[in-house]
Amino acid sequence: MEIVIQVCDVCEKVGKPVKQYGVSEDDRVAKPVLCADDAAPLERFLPKAPGGKVVAAARPATKRPAKKAAARGGRQSGVMTMEEIEAQKRKS
Ligand SMILES: [Zn+2]
Repeated sequence: MEIVIQVCDVCEKVGKPVKQYGVSEDDRVAKPVLCADDAAPLERFLPKAPGGKVVAAARPATKRPAKKAAARGGRQSGVMTMEEIEAQKRKS
């Protein structure tokens, strides 16, 4: 019997729950395994998973309540709706 233990790529502490992330920049791709603490800088950019745990950093709230329903629509993380893109344009 083989037991595989995944540990955080950063702190390497055994016994911490970890998740694998996908990070890319141009053609460079990394799939780090991170604990909640070390994933915090990434989590703040990720949309909250439907039914998942609460992401520590709050995203800027929008005035329109309709956005909440759209976020639950099971879209892929990292993909913005046209509505969100327009909202960001208006902010900057
Ligand atoms: Zn860690």
